[in-house]
Amino acid sequence: MKLILLGAPGAGKGTVAKLLTKMDGSVQISTGDILRAAVAAGTELGKQAQAAMKAGDLVSDDLIMGIMGERLKEDDCKNGYLLDGFPRTIPQAEALKVLLADMGEKLDAVVSIEVPRDVILDRLTTRRTCEGCGEIYNVKSNPPKEEGKCDKCGGNVVQREDETEEAISNRLEVYNEMTAPLAGFYEKEGSLLAVEATSSDVVIDAIKKKLAI
Ligand code: ADP
Ligand code: ZN
Repeated sequence: MKLILLGAPGAGKGTVAKLLTKMDGSVQISTGDILRAAVAAGTELGKQAQAAMKAGDLVSDDLIMGIMGERLKEDDCKNGYLLDGFPRTIPQAEALKVLLADMGEKLDAVVSIEVPRDVILDRLTTRRTCEGCGEIYNVKSNPPKEEGKCDKCGGNVVQREDETEEAISNRLEVYNEMTAPLAGFYEKEGSLLAVEATSSDVVIDAIKKKLAI
């Protein structure tokens, strides 16, 4: 399947994407993960993205389109892809439209995961991430077996740099201003599936129903 997953930070886009990859071999493409890996590796891309990410601001559309133009042409996209955290602005959505048309591809749907703000805030402040493999934990509901160590790879489980209270509130503001309008953009195109849900299973069921799978 080929989907865009829209939703505020902490809405569960990544969790839903991971569950969907197990269904049909589609790949999860998270621009956030790609950027964090570039920052960790100290590449030129990482250097350009680092300051904006730390503050919870968006990285420039040009940088993101450069990444995605390459990424969507890789072989593993043949079985489908779940775009997690991209597009995030109207110009990115417009550029994606051109890119997909050039490649002769069409998305199956744009899924908007809608979660109340208090749930989002609670999730983001208690979220922890493995530096090694990106596995997501939660100090309250899903802590690693050994504190600070990833169950899967043994890497350090830490709070992301952009998960301080200040950066979180900025990310939510940026989301409302820059990304939330994408729901209206895709609604006009007739491809929007809006799901109000705090459980990823409910989101998965709505997607299955929509795609008749
Ligand atoms: P979130 O939990 O906020 O959805 P992500 O992991 O998707 O986090 O993104 C982390 C950061 O990476 C964002 O705050 C932003 O700085 C940058 N980023 C990721 N994707 C994009 C994008 N499509 N456009 C601009 N910036 C992006
Ligand atoms: Zn790990």
